[in-house]
Amino acid sequence: MNCEILAVGTELLLGHTVNTNAADLGLRLASLGINVFWHTVVGDNPGRLREAVAQARTRADLIVCTGGLGPTYDDLTKNILAESFGKKLVFHEDEADFLRAFYAKRSRPMTPNVLQQAWLPEGAVVFHNDWGTAPGCAFEAEGTRVLLLPGPPYECLPMFDACAAPYLRSLSAETLVSRQIRVFGIGESAVEQIFRAEMETMKNPSLATYAKEGEVMLRVTAKAATEAEAAALCEPVVRKVTETLGAHVYGVDVDSLEALVLALMKDRGLTLATAESLTGGLIGARFTAVPGASAVFRGGALTYCDEVKHAMLGVPADVLAEKGAVSREVAAAMAEGARRAVGADLAVSATGLAGPDGDGVNPVGTVFVGLAGPDGTWVRHLRLDASRGRALVRTMSASNAFDMLRRYLTGLPVE
Ligand code: AMP
Ligand code: MG
Repeated sequence: MNCEILAVGTELLLGHTVNTNAADLGLRLASLGINVFWHTVVGDNPGRLREAVAQARTRADLIVCTGGLGPTYDDLTKNILAESFGKKLVFHEDEADFLRAFYAKRSRPMTPNVLQQAWLPEGAVVFHNDWGTAPGCAFEAEGTRVLLLPGPPYECLPMFDACAAPYLRSLSAETLVSRQIRVFGIGESAVEQIFRAEMETMKNPSLATYAKEGEVMLRVTAKAATEAEAAALCEPVVRKVTETLGAHVYGVDVDSLEALVLALMKDRGLTLATAESLTGGLIGARFTAVPGASAVFRGGALTYCDEVKHAMLGVPADVLAEKGAVSREVAAAMAEGARRAVGADLAVSATGLAGPDGDGVNPVGTVFVGLAGPDGTWVRHLRLDASRGRALVRTMSASNAFDMLRRYLTGLPVE
């Protein structure tokens, strides 16, 4: 099935709202084996929406619309789509009852336009909205399938998962299984080079690489009649890729480096501390963004200037003076100091130059990442490409801290 995502809303065109639904729906549609070939954005304008629909139906057999389903005058999507495909709108009494109850429960006056949401194209499969008010739906006309989903992401995405995904799955006799191999410490072009021949010839399963902020993900995808058969097709490829890339692979179907580290530490009842300079709390923020982090994370210090590195973490003043704050020795002392101060089993630290300004000594992008444990201290010297911006230098520094932790925890060389 070839699909076009049609996002409707003037705010998307003007940049007030980022079209996150297109990305999040794209991921979900791809995981169902649907080819997303076009993303279109159109404002709340009937003429241009009509034109966008007319064009979409010439090339896509599935049009997934998001936005413009609400009760206000600029919510046109349903009417224009129904009109374009020659469908009448029919009133759904059960949806109307739900809307009346929704407003009664919240003691909110229900204006007459609210009930417009209970009108849906004839013959549509209704997607009841458990997360808001406007129902979505799916209908089929002249060989094209159309999905209508609400605009707010907190309605659109759960509705996709609960209603649209099962609907789309029911259309296909095949099941798709994807495995995600997560890789750190080797670039996408290097990974691509290794697997290029396979990637070009493999059809089922297929193998593809995706790069993101210092990480590479390889996705193995197979189609078969059953989930078990598709999973079995993926298995040898997953094994081959993980064996070939060895210690660069940090997990299969794991969410992130930090989620993996948390799971490993939680399993062993270990605790973590952080001492951060250039990352400004990013290591702690990323770690604590993973649910359950409080079982492992005890605390951290955010130490920017030398005096604070000395006062809070006990980094010796003479080391700071002689080696400079951006040095292997200071990274080690920061990690050791945090471990001591917080009373944690392991501590990580980061000190360096995120840019664009340097310190006149080290090149911008120089970062030292430390790890202190009961059996030693390790420091990684990073020479990051500062031309790619301050944010990436900080992200990469934090990722390296997590990579050192996962290597320590899995018995691999840390530095
Ligand atoms: P609507 O359903 O068009 O009334 O949209 C309601 C709200 O959902 C908008 O004000 C946006 O904040 C948000 N929204 C609409 N479309 C999208 C989209 N494609 N991606 C992210 N947010 C959206
Ligand atoms: Mg809108």
